[in-house]
Amino acid sequence: MRTRHTAAFVLRHALAQSGADDAFTKLLHQDAIVYAGYSAGVCVLGPDLCGLEQCDDPEAVRATYVEGSWWHRHRRRCQTHGMSLSETDLTHLRRCLELAREGLEDGDEPFGSLLVDAAGTVRFEDRNRVKGGDETRHPEFEIARWSASHLTPEERASATVYTSGEHCPMCSAAHGWMGLGRIVYAASSAQLTEWRSGWGAPPSPVAPLPVSAVAPAVPVDGPAPELEEEIRELHHRLHAQRSSRPG
Ligand SMILES: [Zn+2]
Repeated sequence: MRTRHTAAFVLRHALAQSGADDAFTKLLHQDAIVYAGYSAGVCVLGPDLCGLEQCDDPEAVRATYVEGSWWHRHRRRCQTHGMSLSETDLTHLRRCLELAREGLEDGDEPFGSLLVDAAGTVRFEDRNRVKGGDETRHPEFEIARWSASHLTPEERASATVYTSGEHCPMCSAAHGWMGLGRIVYAASSAQLTEWRSGWGAPPSPVAPLPVSAVAPAVPVDGPAPELEEEIRELHHRLHAQRSSRPG
């Protein structure tokens, strides 16, 4: 069993609460203090704690402070900047983008998704297949339905679904109903909506709600700034094809 330390997150919470953050910032601007040493102190003076949760337990804050966790607010902020993705996450997301590209090249929409089990094995992958007229054939929906007959409830809960674009409300609901685990997306629904409206595309017939609004218990990570240009380009190509189509 891995033992985790607790100091960094509790110390970080204490600093944020006590006003020490502002005091330190002022003193640093005045060049009045120098930090030397190696401990949780060096971590809490950094811009970010993401990654430290691998060796230090953020839940320790909840045990120490009753009013709620600084970490949980912090983590949400990290997620909006895509700072909680590992190299493994990015490798799986790159595969999602390959599937998305394959979809686009086959005349479909550029979305691709994978289901990875707790051992790290890719168990199922798919891409959009709506060009035949069935607009519900999203890969995340296929994954949820596949999981019903191929995985136990425990396997579903410990699986991660990777996807090039954040789940739409239909797929978020299917994911939530099936009790699947973490979702990692490369681009958020908010990003896709913003790009599309910037290109003058008509609005989606379905509200672009985030996964958290539909299935609030599902842990979600993304977007991946490293992949933003590539995925944006795929969607721009789709838009260009549609707008040049006659009639
Ligand atoms: Zn969907």
